[in-house]
Amino acid sequence: MSVTRPRGTNDVLPDQSYKWQIVEAKIREICHNFGYQELRTPIFEHTELFERGIGETTDIVEKEMYTFIDRGNRSMTLRPEGTAPVVRAFLENKLYAQAMPAKVYYLGAMFRYERPQAGRYRQFTQFGVEALGSSDPMLDVEMITLPIKVYQACGLEGFKVHINSIGCPDCRPAYRKALQDKFLAQQEAFCMTCQGRIERNPLRVLDCKVKECQSLLADIPLVTESLCKNCGDHFAQVRTYLDQLDVKYVINPKLVRGFDYYTKTVFEIIVPTLGSQNAIGGGGRYDGLVAECGGEPQPAVGFAVGLERVLLSLAQKETTVFQAPKPDLFLAQFGGATKDVAIALAHKLRDQGLWVELDYMGKSLRAQMKVANKLNCLGVIVIGEDEVAQNRAKLRKMSTSEEIEIDLNHVEQVEQAVVKLREGQVLA
Ligand code: AMP
Repeated sequence: MSVTRPRGTNDVLPDQSYKWQIVEAKIREICHNFGYQELRTPIFEHTELFERGIGETTDIVEKEMYTFIDRGNRSMTLRPEGTAPVVRAFLENKLYAQAMPAKVYYLGAMFRYERPQAGRYRQFTQFGVEALGSSDPMLDVEMITLPIKVYQACGLEGFKVHINSIGCPDCRPAYRKALQDKFLAQQEAFCMTCQGRIERNPLRVLDCKVKECQSLLADIPLVTESLCKNCGDHFAQVRTYLDQLDVKYVINPKLVRGFDYYTKTVFEIIVPTLGSQNAIGGGGRYDGLVAECGGEPQPAVGFAVGLERVLLSLAQKETTVFQAPKPDLFLAQFGGATKDVAIALAHKLRDQGLWVELDYMGKSLRAQMKVANKLNCLGVIVIGEDEVAQNRAKLRKMSTSEEIEIDLNHVEQVEQAVVKLREGQVLA
């Protein structure tokens, strides 16, 4: 049997990769506008970073990490998320000594051993932003408005923003206890996983997708009602800023997220039409993580967006954002000296930034024209012996068959014609 790609991974084929490039370019542009700079961390880290950072009782650490022992007998893990590595890099490279807050973004592959389905993969791509060193609620709001700008720039509509506050180490223990007591009273009614969670991490129960568990959550105490003054004020300020910026949101007091490091604000952005894997982004504040990773305590906030899901949502609708790129010109020739001239001309035109195609298969002129059509080339120049002798050739606009004569030594003339081709103008 031939080798296939591993389960839960994807090949992004050339007829799709240009869409990724467009989305990635928009991400970089918007991050630039907000003043976030790229931080590239390794694909693998010491396993301990994620165990400490994400929390040992989370699904990710308990059962989803790609962990291996390297040849030096160290435990390594393919990164399942980007925040812990950013915090590690922030501390290791002393980014706190520079202008604060440290504002960074990342874009790259993450790995989780999950059960694959539409929108859920074992290798997927996240774009994330982190701001470290400030507790200003304005930053919590930037973490919501920035991904919204990315979605909008990609032409995505119909997403919903859910927000919550899950408190801090001062107020969460009391809430945790109240929740635990409530759950313990009917422990047997929960699924086996949740029965374990009730002991170790009762907030996780709120996240359970099992219907029976969900039905038991109707009259639980709500975290938003047990926040300390500091967390309550912070959450109120976040909502005020969101209102001022006219960002629509839903307060979802049962929203907790898959990591233990969150404090105060958490949020998720969902596309209801995406089915069960409908979260296209999420994040929150993690004021305790820097200290957890061994640094001086620093407040911080961030989010991550799953790009596969963004592209899946965009595939559900017509969008003008994704125009498949088209070659500018095909230089057709008859072999021999005509091929030499075509190669030289292609070389010059490519230097000018034009996308120029040639025949690599030894095809006849007729067959080359077919290829040019198939590739959606905007124009074709046919270079025969007469053309070589006279240094002149016809440039044909493929969509209308309009032709103009060009001077083969006059590259600017061809460039000017290509500008018109790209803009759909007549050539003459
Ligand atoms: P998380 O890091 O779990 O907060 O996830 C942030 C975003 O990454 C989610 O909202 C999804 O869009 C995306 N994501 C998380 N896990 C996966 C996965 N296994 N496959 C595809 N996308 C994912």
